Amino acid sequence: MFRTRLALGAVITAAALALAGCAGHTSGASSWHASGSGSAPGDGGQGGGDQGAHPYVGASTAAAAAKPSATASASPSAPASTPASTPASPPASASTSPSTSTTLPAPGGDGIIRTTGSDAVALTFDDGPGPDTPKILQMLRAQGIKATFCLIGVNVQEYPQYVQQIVQDGHTLCNHTWKHDESLGKKSADTIRNDLQRTSDEIHKAVPNAPIKYFRHPGGNFTPLAVQIASELGMESIGWSVDPFDWNTKKWSGQQMTNHIVSNVRNNTKPGSIVLSHDGGGDRSATVAAYKTLLPELKAKFTLVALPV
Ligand SMILES: [Zn+2]
Repeated sequence: MFRTRLALGAVITAAALALAGCAGHTSGASSWHASGSGSAPGDGGQGGGDQGAHPYVGASTAAAAAKPSATASASPSAPASTPASTPASPPASASTSPSTSTTLPAPGGDGIIRTTGSDAVALTFDDGPGPDTPKILQMLRAQGIKATFCLIGVNVQEYPQYVQQIVQDGHTLCNHTWKHDESLGKKSADTIRNDLQRTSDEIHKAVPNAPIKYFRHPGGNFTPLAVQIASELGMESIGWSVDPFDWNTKKWSGQQMTNHIVSNVRNNTKPGSIVLSHDGGGDRSATVAAYKTLLPELKAKFTLVALPV
C-alpha cells in the first residue's frame, strides 16, 4: 500500500492539511446553493440544491471552499519531486518511484482525503460514463494526462465500452454509487454495502480485475458509516478541494459556463489540489470546452496525476 511509503513528515503534513480542509468544510456551501430548487438535502448540510436538474447531479458541497491554506507552507515538507532529496527513503528502489504519484495523505478525522498530499494535482471526473466521456478521454490522451473517474453503476451498465477505454488509457477508477443516491450514506449498512458492491461488480463486468480503490459519495455527503463500509470494501474515500460547479447548468450555460469553469479552476488550483468536474450526468459540452483550454495550462503549471492504485 502506498500509505506505508509515507514519511513521518508527510503524515504530519497530511494531518495539517486535513485539519485545514475540515475548517474550510463548515463554510463551504456557496450561498447560491440555497437559490437552487430549494430542495433541502435533508442532512445538515451543505449538500443539496439543484437535485432537480437531473438525477445524477451532485450537490457540491463540502470542500468547495476548503482551500488548504497550509498547502503552500506544507509543500516543502511533502514528498520531494526531486528524487535526490529523499534522504529518508532507505531502499534504493524508492528513488525509482515518482513520489508525486504514489502517495496520498492519510485521511482526516472524517476519513476523507481532499488533497493529493504532494505538489501534484489530481483531476477527477464524476457521474459518468456518458456521451461526453470519449471527448474528455481524447483530450487527456492528447495531452498525456492521467486522471480519475468516479463512475455511476447505471451509467457503467449503459456505456461499458467507455469504462474499458478509461482503463486502457491508464486512468484510475472510483466508485460513485449505483444511481447517485445523495442520501445513501444515511441508509442501513446493508443498503450501503449492497449499493457499493453492485457498482463495483458492474464496473468489473466491463473491466474484470481493474482496481477500484476509491469511493466518492454523491454530493460529497459522506457519512461515517459510508466511509467505513467503503473502507471495508477496500476503497479510500475521496473528496475534493476545487469545484467549479460545472454541474450547475441552471446557473450557467454555454460559453458563460465554459468561462466560469476555466476561471474557477485556473484561479483555485494549487499544488495538492483534487479538482472535481463532471464528464457525465448531463450535457457536459461546457466542461469539455473548458478543459480544452485548461488541460494545457494545468499541465504547464503542475504535475497532473491519477490517484494512485
Ligand atoms: Zn456525482
